[in-house]
Amino acid sequence: MLSSDTSGIYRSWNMSIPQITKPSKLYNLEPIGIGTPYVESLTSYICRLAEAHSVRTGTLVLEEIIPHIPKHYSVRNGKVLYNNSGAINSCGEEASSKGTIIKILQDLCQRKDLSLLTMSNWKNFISLNSLHYTNRRWCPFCFEEWQTKQTTLYEPLLWKIKCLDLCPIHISLLVEKCGNKYCNKTNKHLGGNISIGFSEHCNGWLGIDTDNKENLKFNIKDQTNQGEFICSNLVQLIPIPQKQSGVKIKHILRRNILFLKEKINNQNLGDEIKKVRILLNNFLTSRSNLSLDSLLFICSTFGITISQLLDQEVQKVSLSNYCVTNEKKRINKKETY
Ligand SMILES: [Zn+2]
Ligand SMILES: [Zn+2]
Repeated sequence: MLSSDTSGIYRSWNMSIPQITKPSKLYNLEPIGIGTPYVESLTSYICRLAEAHSVRTGTLVLEEIIPHIPKHYSVRNGKVLYNNSGAINSCGEEASSKGTIIKILQDLCQRKDLSLLTMSNWKNFISLNSLHYTNRRWCPFCFEEWQTKQTTLYEPLLWKIKCLDLCPIHISLLVEKCGNKYCNKTNKHLGGNISIGFSEHCNGWLGIDTDNKENLKFNIKDQTNQGEFICSNLVQLIPIPQKQSGVKIKHILRRNILFLKEKINNQNLGDEIKKVRILLNNFLTSRSNLSLDSLLFICSTFGITISQLLDQEVQKVSLSNYCVTNEKKRINKKETY
C-alpha cells in the first residue's frame, strides 16, 4: 500500500541559472611551459594559434588582432606591429599596445594566463627599457631535438631577452640569421609568413645546418663563464613572477638591497664594489627600477643568485674578493715604490 505522504522522497529542484562560460572565438590553445623557465613567448603563441587554425600568421594578425587595437596606436598597421614585435614579449616602450594585445588574445581565446608569456609581470621590479632583443633568435639544437622527438616547436620567452646570448640547455650561441646562404636574413619576432622553426623569408628549416654545426659551438668565444652565469640566473628568474606578485618581489628586493648596502657601508673595498654601492644608493633613493644588467652585476659582485636577490632573504654574501684591507694597501704602496 502506497503512503499518501511522499514529501520526504524527492529532493527540491535547483532552479538557479547555471554558469555558462562564454565560448571563445579562437581555440583556447594551451601555452607551453607555464610555471617553468622555458615558458613560451607571446609571439610564439600567436604563430602557433594561427597554425592551429590553419591560417597564415599574417591572416590571424590582420583579421583578428589588429581590428581590436585602439585606433590611436601606431601598431594598428601590420608593418609597424611586425617591426615592433619584440616589444609584444616584453614590457618596453610599447607597453600600452602590448598590454592591449594580451587583452585582445585573452578575450579571443578565453584565457587568463597569457601575460605570463611576456615580461610584463616584471615591471614592478625591473626597468622597462631595453629588455628584449630586436630580432628573432633561436637555438638550432633545440629546434632539431624537438623535431626529432616530434614534440611541439615553439620559441621560449628566454630567447627574447636581450642580455642572453647562449641557449641554457646546449650552451651554444642563439642564432639570428637564417642558415640558408642564399637568404642569410634576420627575422622579426612576428611576420605575415612566419611559422615556428622556419625562416620567414625563404621558409628554410632553422634547426641544425650540418655544415655550420661546429661553428655554432666555436663562436662562443671566451665569454662562456659570463654567458653561463647569465643563463643560470635567467633560468631562475623566469618562474619567479609566475608564482608571486611583482609588488611582493619588489618588497623582497628592497629589503635585500638595504641589507647589502649595510654590509658594505664603512668598509674599505675595491673599485668594483664601489660601483655597486652607487647602484644600490640610486635604487634606494630614487623610485626607478634597476635594469636586468644591473641586477645581474649586483648578483655577480656579491656572489649571490638572482633567485636569492628577488625571492629569498639574502644572508650569506661573499665579499672576500673585494675587500682591500689597509694592510694590503700599505704593502701594495711599498711594492710600487
Ligand atoms: Zn638549445
Ligand atoms: Zn631564410
